[in-house]
Amino acid sequence: MQCPECQSTHINKNGHKKGKQNYICVRCKRQFINDYQFQKGYSEEVKRECLKMYVNGMGFRAIERVNNVHHTTIINWVKQAGELLPNCYEERNDSFGWRIR
Ligand SMILES: [Zn+2]
Repeated sequence: MQCPECQSTHINKNGHKKGKQNYICVRCKRQFINDYQFQKGYSEEVKRECLKMYVNGMGFRAIERVNNVHHTTIINWVKQAGELLPNCYEERNDSFGWRIR
């Protein structure tokens, strides 16, 4: 199981909500229920917008501030998109962006 916000697997149980197990992410403190609806996360629209900004040279932190999406989430999307856009991915591979973690 992963945090829907930062994809961390460092998760603790945090009581129950409406009969469902509630969890809290140790890393970003986001609380969530292990439920498909919550795991789905951001919409495709938000994801596309973030990737567009990244391709246009914006840093992860800047995109995080503008779209209110955790930068580790954006990094994960970029990695996924990198398989579709190899040039873009490799070009930024050695830049500061990948050392944020
Ligand atoms: Zn988290």
